Amino acid sequence: MLTTPTAAPTSSFTKTTVLNNGCVIPLVGLGTWKSEPGKVQQAVKEAIRLGYRHVDCAFCYHNEKEVGLALQECFAQGLCRREELFVTSKLWCDKHHPNDVRDALRNTLSDLQLDYLDMYLMHWPVAIKINWPESADDMIALDDLPIADTWKVMEECVDQGLTKGIGVSNFSIKKLEHLLASCRIPPAINQVERHPYLAQPDMMEHCARKNIHVTGYSPLGSLDRPAGLKGPDEVNLLTDPTVTSVANKHGISTAQVLLKWAVQTNASTIPKSIHPTRLAENLMVGRDDFPDLDQRDLEMLQSLDAHRRYVTGAFWALPGGPYTVENLWDE
Ligand code: NDP
Repeated sequence: MLTTPTAAPTSSFTKTTVLNNGCVIPLVGLGTWKSEPGKVQQAVKEAIRLGYRHVDCAFCYHNEKEVGLALQECFAQGLCRREELFVTSKLWCDKHHPNDVRDALRNTLSDLQLDYLDMYLMHWPVAIKINWPESADDMIALDDLPIADTWKVMEECVDQGLTKGIGVSNFSIKKLEHLLASCRIPPAINQVERHPYLAQPDMMEHCARKNIHVTGYSPLGSLDRPAGLKGPDEVNLLTDPTVTSVANKHGISTAQVLLKWAVQTNASTIPKSIHPTRLAENLMVGRDDFPDLDQRDLEMLQSLDAHRRYVTGAFWALPGGPYTVENLWDE
C-alpha cells in the first residue's frame, strides 16, 4: 500500500474537475453522514490537515454545527482558506416549500459558520411535512409541491450569493430531464449512489451529455448504516473477491480500488471515515501520481454491476403514500 502523506498541503491535494457553473470541485471529498457529532469535528479537521478540500454535508446528518466548528478551527489555524474549500450541503425534504428553502439554506450556513456554500443540493425528489415521516399523512406528492417550485427558490439563492452552485441528489434521468426542461439554472451535480455494484452507466452517459457532474455516494458500500436502513442480504463490497484481486495485483487496499474506479470513471467520490489512517488512504487515490487501474481491471470491475443499491429509498415508500420505490427511481 502507498504510504501516508506526511506534510499537510496548503492547496487542493486531489485531481479536480470544472462544473457547468465554472466552479472547480476536487474529485475526492469527505462524506459526513453517520459521523457522530462527538467525532466529526476531529475527522473534518484531520481531513483538511491531510489535504481534503471537499466536504459533503447535509442538514439531515445532524452534525453541521460540529463540521462548522472544525472549519472555523482550520481557517483560524491557517490549514486552509475558505476559497480553497468546496463545501456541499443539502436541502432536507421537509423544506421544499418555496417559503422554506431560503431559511433552510441560511440555517445551514449559520450552523457551518459560512457566508456561502459551494453547492446546495435538493437531497431527494421527495417532499414531506415533518423531519422524518411515519405515515402517508406526513408525505406530500410532487404534484402538490412540484420540484420546479422548490428549484426556483434555489436559483434565487444563487442570485443572492448564498451558494455558488445548485444541484440535485437521487434524481433519475427522467426527473433530471423534467427539471432541465423548466429551469433557469441547470443543476451542476446529480449526487447518486455509485460503486461497482451500481455503476450507473446510463446516468453517467446522460449526465456527460447534459454537462452535469456526477458525485457518487456510498462508494465503499456504506457499511455503518443504521440497522433499520439495511437490507437482509447485503454483500460487503470491500471484501468482494474481484475487488480484492485487483487490490492485490496493485498492492493497494480494496477501498482504494473502489475510489480509484470512481475517479477514473469521471465521477467525484465522497467516502466517509472518522479514522486518520483511512482518511489518508482514501484521499491518496485523488493524487496525480496514484497509479491508474488498467483496462483489464476496469473490465473486471464493470462485470460486478448488478444494479444493486445499498440506499434503496424504501423508507419513502410508506403504505398509501405518493412514493414507491418504482416511482422514486423511475424504474
Ligand atoms: P461509505 O461508502 O463512504 O462507507 C463508509 C464506511 O466505510 C464507514 O463504515 C467507514 O468507517 C468505512 N471506511 C471508510 N474508509 C475506509 C477504508 N479505507 N477501509 C475500510 N473501511 C473504510 O458510506 P456512506 O454511506 O457514508 O457514503 C459516503 C458519503 O456519501 C456520506 O457520508 C454522505 O456524505 C454521502 N451520502 C449521500 C447520500 C445522498 O442521499 N445524497 C446518501 C448516502 C451517503 P470509519 O468511519 O469507521 O472509518
